[in-house]
Amino acid sequence: MVRDAAYVGLLLVLQVSALSAQSTANAVYDRVILGGHVIDPASQLDAVRNIGLTGGRIAVVTTHAIRGRDTVDAHGLVVAPGFIDLHAHGQTAETYRFYSLDGVTTALELGTSDVAAWYRERSGGEQINYGVSIGHIKVRMAVMHDSGTWMPVSDGAYRAASPAQIGEIAKRIETGLSEGAVSIGAGFPYTPAATRDELFAVFRVAAMTKTPIHVHIRPGVAGLKEALSLAGETGAALHVVHINSAGLADTPVMLEMITDARAHGRDVTTEAYPYDAGMTEIQSATIQDTYRDSSNERLAELEWPPTGERLNRASFERYSRIGGPVVVHTNTEEMVAVAINSPLTIVASDAYWQSGTGHPRTTGTFARVLGRYVREGLGSPSPEGRGGQGVRLSLMDAIRKMTLLPAQRLEARVPAMHQKGRLRVGADADITIFDPATVIDRSTYREPSLSPVGIQHVIVNGVSVVANGHAVEGVTPGKEVRAPR
Ligand SMILES: [Zn+2]
Repeated sequence: MVRDAAYVGLLLVLQVSALSAQSTANAVYDRVILGGHVIDPASQLDAVRNIGLTGGRIAVVTTHAIRGRDTVDAHGLVVAPGFIDLHAHGQTAETYRFYSLDGVTTALELGTSDVAAWYRERSGGEQINYGVSIGHIKVRMAVMHDSGTWMPVSDGAYRAASPAQIGEIAKRIETGLSEGAVSIGAGFPYTPAATRDELFAVFRVAAMTKTPIHVHIRPGVAGLKEALSLAGETGAALHVVHINSAGLADTPVMLEMITDARAHGRDVTTEAYPYDAGMTEIQSATIQDTYRDSSNERLAELEWPPTGERLNRASFERYSRIGGPVVVHTNTEEMVAVAINSPLTIVASDAYWQSGTGHPRTTGTFARVLGRYVREGLGSPSPEGRGGQGVRLSLMDAIRKMTLLPAQRLEARVPAMHQKGRLRVGADADITIFDPATVIDRSTYREPSLSPVGIQHVIVNGVSVVANGHAVEGVTPGKEVRAPR
């Protein structure tokens, strides 16, 4: 009896699999991606497969031969979920194009003061998927009537808020969340006059609305302690942005602190970008407060990008009056490697682009991790590696940091993220196809707009935005990524 049931069951399985093989053979998909080395961190799939796309979604992932109205030949290439950048300052057609050439299919801005307007401005479609946080910095600038355009330079940075103003800041953050912001952004070094009461009020909104708060913390261990304590007391989920530049020499111990918090059940995550210099606005509080009274030796940490010169007292004061981005050389390649190679970190660019110039991370972050860390083994202990103390980053782990981990960071608040960062039937057809043998960044501090090589095809909602290594002009398949309202 038991044997009969098993036999019938086996027959059924054989029939069903024959049927599905047949329907796969008969189907004609919108597009097929053939013969690629498919890497999907969610399922741990790491094998050659064909992928069929229909209606902007993945319809099949199979070893069987499949047909489509359009074919992408992926033989010899890696097929990965499209990269998700949680932290990209620069959300224009120009920067979306940069991000797409680096394999990014979804880029999220860390802060606006008007979420509804931000999405409305992009509702005609963009080259890649886009989304925004409600930003404490921008809200504070509005409430405190700061005179700066992009970063606080007056009362938004330097004046304590009254209890009524704190109430207004919290209310505007709640409004932004009700309009679908994907998270709350904050940057303590840019708002030094914000009191603990004010920051506590912001974290309380995050906790009450179950929204992760993504924080540019104050530097070093003390900065991380402050953010962990605010998150702990309020119960908010905390994401610490670019641990590499927040941590500098303290990066290893700060990664341990986050590991420890997670081991105690806390919802704390972090990210890193693969460059040993940062960049920010010279007029911002974080630069002015640090360098206003410092020696020429210290000022030489700063580089003026248009000329490449290191600053001294006279040039610092001259450029501070003009304003513009400044390169900040305060980290080491070794500390960056510790951050990038850590299993904890999400890869995020912190892209920075203003008036036609910016940081090379804007154009090269993801290709740089794949080329310099995965292929060349930067920071790994192996003989071919160049020093450092990390474990060599595998392709699977690197892709996980670029796809699944950022999707998971947001999916409690943005359920649509369940359909991103994965290559499985039903997922959004956001797909990045690259050559693991050649992928590399090319941009530099002097020439930050150079696109990487080796990112061959980038598909957003089923539509190619990069084909054969070149941007496809005039396509806007990117959709909004937004929390339910
Ligand atoms: Zn940032």
